[in-house]
Amino acid sequence: MSAFPATRLRRLRRTAVLRDLVRETSLSVDDLVMPLFVAPEALPNERLPGMARHTVYSVVQECEELLRLGVKSVILFGLPDGKDEEGSGAWVEDGVIQRALRALRARFPELLLMTDVCLCEYTSHGHCGVVNASGDVDNDASIDLIVRTAVSHVEAGADVVCPSDMMDGRVGAMREQLPDTPIIAYSAKYASAFYGPFREVADSAPEFGDRRGYQMDPGNVREALRECEQDIAEGADMIMIKPALPYLDVIRAARDRFDLPLGAYNVSGEYAMVKAAAAAGDLDERVAAIECLTAIRRAGADLVFTYWAKEFASWR
Ligand SMILES: [Zn+2]
Repeated sequence: MSAFPATRLRRLRRTAVLRDLVRETSLSVDDLVMPLFVAPEALPNERLPGMARHTVYSVVQECEELLRLGVKSVILFGLPDGKDEEGSGAWVEDGVIQRALRALRARFPELLLMTDVCLCEYTSHGHCGVVNASGDVDNDASIDLIVRTAVSHVEAGADVVCPSDMMDGRVGAMREQLPDTPIIAYSAKYASAFYGPFREVADSAPEFGDRRGYQMDPGNVREALRECEQDIAEGADMIMIKPALPYLDVIRAARDRFDLPLGAYNVSGEYAMVKAAAAAGDLDERVAAIECLTAIRRAGADLVFTYWAKEFASWR
């Protein structure tokens, strides 16, 4: 059977063409989604170039460049002019995301516009929902506002909405209002230490407490499958695991269990770790980034949300 010396697995590794021919997992810019932050003021980010803040004006220029490079899908995050208890900046008609969507929709009909739907960038307390008198994030009261936000995004031109708040029942409520809009549910979003650079850029760190009352415990995988199951039952078109690299087993488990397209979010801390190691001369960023993204695809993700999308496209 497969015994040495008749079997020599190195034979198929001999040349680049052979290796290309037998590679099991592919990685293409078609699989990647570029996150973009839209804010009242631009803020370049030298250390983490994929995590700059754009204005409505500069995000249009950025998307023009992304399309030129071959990146066809983006997900928008917004920073409002002002924050309040309810996060009303998330759904107002002249909100930063709504204005960005209208500008991008008119200019680039071919660009797939996804939006992150959550309240944490818009609430004064920084939580993903409404905080009640006893200081808890109120699930059912939050859902109304989250759905209102999603509807306002679709009215402004979003193709896909992506609820990231981790409230129970938000996908079903959104589905009722938006029967024709694809929903990518952040189904299993963990309470992770790897969101650090994102919270800086998006200014969304909670003012008090943490998000462990709604985001998932890092020790759990069966619960992640229950979250996925629930979102699918409520009408999600795709499910997503976030973060990606510390949760490859969760991606694999979801892949094995469900047939829906599966996304994974290669989060800011994963991106920053490699950037920092590369800046210190410890590794080659390009090779390491491609290895990370390939690992996420190999674990079973169909699409990957990654700050490397633009850089990856320019490396080809
Ligand atoms: Zn949030």
